[in-house]
This record gives sequence, C-alpha cells and structure tokens, in this order.
Amino acid sequence: MIFKDLGLHPDIVSGISEIGFETPSPIQAAVIPYVLNNQDDIVGLAQTGTGKTAAFGLPMLHLTDTTRAVTQSLVLAPTRELCVQIASELRKYSSKVAKIRIVAVYGGEDIRKQLKELDQTPHILVATPGRLMDLMRRGKVSLVNINYLVLDEADEMLNMGFVDDITEILQETPKTRRTLLFSATMPQEIADIAQNYMRNAHEIAVGKRGEAAQNVEHRYVLIKSTLRYEVLKRILDYYPDIYGIVFCRTRMETKEVAEKLMVDGYNADALHGDLSQSQRDAVMNKFRIKHLQILVATDVAARGLDVNDLTHVIHYVLPDDKETYTHRSGRTGRVNKEGTSIALVTPREKMSIKSIERTIKRTFVEMEIPSGMAVCQRQMQHLLGQMSAVTMHPKLHKLLPDAYEILKDVSKEELIAQLISVRFNPLLTYYENAVDLQAMMRKEPKEEVKLSRRQKRQADKGDTLRLKINRGKNDKMDPRKLLGLLNDVVNDRSMVIGDIDISAKFSFFDVPKDRVEQVVNAFAVSKRARGIQIAMVKGTQGSQKSDVKGQRSEVKGQKRKPRRGQT
Ligand code: AMP
Repeated sequence: MIFKDLGLHPDIVSGISEIGFETPSPIQAAVIPYVLNNQDDIVGLAQTGTGKTAAFGLPMLHLTDTTRAVTQSLVLAPTRELCVQIASELRKYSSKVAKIRIVAVYGGEDIRKQLKELDQTPHILVATPGRLMDLMRRGKVSLVNINYLVLDEADEMLNMGFVDDITEILQETPKTRRTLLFSATMPQEIADIAQNYMRNAHEIAVGKRGEAAQNVEHRYVLIKSTLRYEVLKRILDYYPDIYGIVFCRTRMETKEVAEKLMVDGYNADALHGDLSQSQRDAVMNKFRIKHLQILVATDVAARGLDVNDLTHVIHYVLPDDKETYTHRSGRTGRVNKEGTSIALVTPREKMSIKSIERTIKRTFVEMEIPSGMAVCQRQMQHLLGQMSAVTMHPKLHKLLPDAYEILKDVSKEELIAQLISVRFNPLLTYYENAVDLQAMMRKEPKEEVKLSRRQKRQADKGDTLRLKINRGKNDKMDPRKLLGLLNDVVNDRSMVIGDIDISAKFSFFDVPKDRVEQVVNAFAVSKRARGIQIAMVKGTQGSQKSDVKGQRSEVKGQKRKPRRGQT
C-alpha cells in the first residue's frame, strides 16, 4: 500500500512524499482510511514512534477547510515538547497546503507570545490541557467549531493529573465532533473517557494492548548492584554508535550517573526535573540533533521527548510499574527501525522481568556482560565501518604523496596494524587488565552466600590479600596519606588494613579477603579515587611481599581517561 491509495488530498500526498514518507506505517494504514470512510470515533493503542502523529494528522489536514477562518481541529497532548513536535510534524505534512494555520500553545512559556499568535485564528490548535483552559478563560480560544479532536498520549495526560481539564474541554466542544484518542496503555480511566465522551469508539491497536513495539529486542543483563555503573559503561563501550537513553529512577541517580559518565569521557548529559526549562531545552536539543549520544533521564523528564530513532534504551534500574517499562522501551524500535531495550537487573530484580514478559507478551533474552576483548573487537569493526564509509577530503591528495613516501617500505599488514594501534592501544591497555564482570556474575548468587562465612573465618584468621594502587612516593604518597585515602574512598572504618609498602610508583596494602571486592568497587566509583587504578597483586597472599614488576594485575578499577577509539 502507498499513501496515494489512501484517499488523501494530492497536496498532502505531495507534501509527505517530499519528506520521504512512502509506505504508511501499520497504524497509519489502519487509522487513515477508517477516518476518511467512517464516522465513528477511534481509540488507537499505539506508542510514540509508530507514526501516530501522521495517522491522526493526515486525515485532520484532509478534513480542514482553509476557507473557514475558525479553529476546526484540536490536539491535546501532555507536554510542551510533544505539542511543539506535533505542530512541527503537521506543518511538514502540510507544506503544500495553502494558507493553513497551525498554532501550538503550552505551559512553561510566556503566555503573551501565545496570545499574540492567537490574534489570527488558527485552523488547527495543538495544546496542553492546562494552558488551553487558561486561554479559554481569557476568551482567546473558542472550541465551538471543533469537529476533529485528538487526545494524544492520553494515559500520560491522566498520569499528569489533567483528567478534570480534559473532561471540561471535551464538554466545551460540539457533541458532533470526531474524537481520536491515542494511548500506549489502557488504564480504566481511559476506558471511562471512551465510554462517556466518544461515539462507538472503534479500537485500533498496533500490536496488542500494552504490548511492546514489535521491532524492539528486549534484553536483560544480570549484574551485582555494586557493579551497576561498571556494567553500564561496558555496555556503552560495546555499542560505539549508540544513540540512546539511560533511564534512572530518581533525579539524584540521574545526576550521579550522568556526571560519572561525563567524567569518564562519554558523550552524555542529564535530563531531570531540577533543570530549568531553558537547560532542559538545551539538553534535549543537543540530543535531538545527535550532538549528544547518551541521555541519562528520569521517566518524568523524558516525557514528550521527540527523538525518533534511538538505537538503545537502557534501564539502569527497572521501573516500579510495567507501563513505564512499555513507555521507556517504546522509545526505540520506531517506524521501520530495529531497537534494543536493555535492563540491568540484579538476581533479585530478575523476578520483575518475568512479570514484564507476561504483560508485554515478549520474551527477554539474557545478554552477557561483554568482555574487554569483545568491546575492542566491536570498536574495531565500528572504526573499519567508518573508514570504508568515509569520503576523502578533496585536499587530501596534496598530503598523500608525503605519506606514500614515508610508508613505502611498510607492508599492507603492518600498515593496517599500525593504523589500528594508533587508535586502539589505549583501549587495549585499558581492557587488558579489566575485571571480567561476567565471571564475577557467574559466582552469584549461591557461591557468594556460601563463601561469605568461610571468607569471614579466613578474614578473622588474618587471611588477607594484597592490593596495589598506582600512586607511590613520586606522588608524595606515604602510609598516613594512604590510610586517609582508603578511609575516604571505602568509608568503612571497621576494615582493618594490613601491611603497607610504598614504592616509587605504587602503594601496596593488605586487606581482608572478604573486603577485596568492596575496596575495588569503592575505588571504581568514588570521585575521590578519580584517575587511581587499583589492582590485586596476583598470586600473593597478604604479607607475602611481592615483587610487582612483571606481574599483571587481576582486578582493575574501571576508571580511565576519556574513551578513545570511539565517536
Ligand atoms: P510518531 O510516532 O508520530 O512520533 O512518528 C515517529 C517518526 O516516524 C516521526 O519522525 C515521523 O516523521 C516518522 N514517520 C511517520 N510515519 C512515517 C512513514 N510512513 N514513513 C517514514 N517515517 C514516518
């Protein structure tokens, strides 16, 4: 099926073909002919990204009579961002429709500007319920000629407490109007609105009720809660061309994760409720134009974010309710695009996966935490992909003769190895000693429980292991400073530190065996330990002084310089 077959006005078909719409998405193929050929109302169960704006927008444009200077269509949406997005999509679709006026009004912006825009009556009004009520009270908007009304993201509008405003607005519009309600989920309040305010509501669902989008792959990764951040970084490293959202549950968590990612060199930023509207706009804009690869966000702040082609959604922590999971994961896998939703779960949180599976009727695939080598391989493939896609700069040929001359005796294999080494040596060095996070998980949960008593006894007997950090006398480290650092980083004064030795570049110290992981993790996440690498001295028990030269460390904190070898 193509758009021309749907019965839309040729100006509309021509406008959308210019922006590259060829075949209707499933929700469009279902909704557009229905609106054009029937009189009944529609309840559309579809998430953002399914193409629902065009599904209600194209017939709306088709039915608009631009010779009548009255507001004929109204779209209600929960957020300012969504209103702006809908109005801008409608303007794109109607670029070939003469003299059509589309205005968006929403809270969070000076009302005077919007009042001015309304001086000339729009044919189509896109509004948040609260701001619309305000404008109605001021007599700036009349709904008496509305014959096409859309409630977009109705479940979100109800979540945001707009139910009274919506019912009042519905009552202000003529009973003869056409109503289209879109919602990702179907709570009882939505069914009630359909029942009380809609005529013969015909249900159109893309996928089944509450089900997640079909082209999203759902994965989970088993983690230890103390290593959540480390696993997140590993996953981000594994997808060098990721363009995604990391969902956190609280503002605090969002800020912390985003800050750590930025310090660790990722192209990330935070979106949460503590930001001012202009800060929010700036972050969203950066993300929208893909100057930002990773957005760390709370569910509330991400509402209405109009990004269309996320490659990944990462659940840093799973949400409490399944509907939020559906919303989050629906942000990827948009029209004709594959997406991946990855949830970081501890063995205990894994229970929730089963219940989400039942709701969304999809099976999760367990994903292993990528190893350091797998990350390096991925990143190399990414680089090679970029190399084969790059177009040469026209001025490059002027530089090439020198390069040919210098490299004339280098074989093709050597040349490839050297070029790749330039980019990959830091990454390979970093990952050479990185802890095998997946192996640590395999020990979970039974062994850890079993081991802890034994380990406790060992610790009581003074059974310790030797750790080292890359700070020594050259860095003015002495035993007192080392103890201070350990206190600050580990923040556990009950831990007994054994023998301390300080060489020019390193400091060595013994800790009880059962505390090794706690110490290593603390170094990996603490701000105070930024830039410090901690490692376990292999094959040594504490107090057996080791000659560290030539020894490889087995466990390594994951702090490192801004990542290289990545875009
Ligand atoms: P929506 O679900 O309305 O937010 O749409 C998601 C994105 O898909 C928007 O960027 C639309 O411009 C785009 N889109 C909608 N319908 C189509 C289509 N039939 N073909 C290609 N892209 C589309």
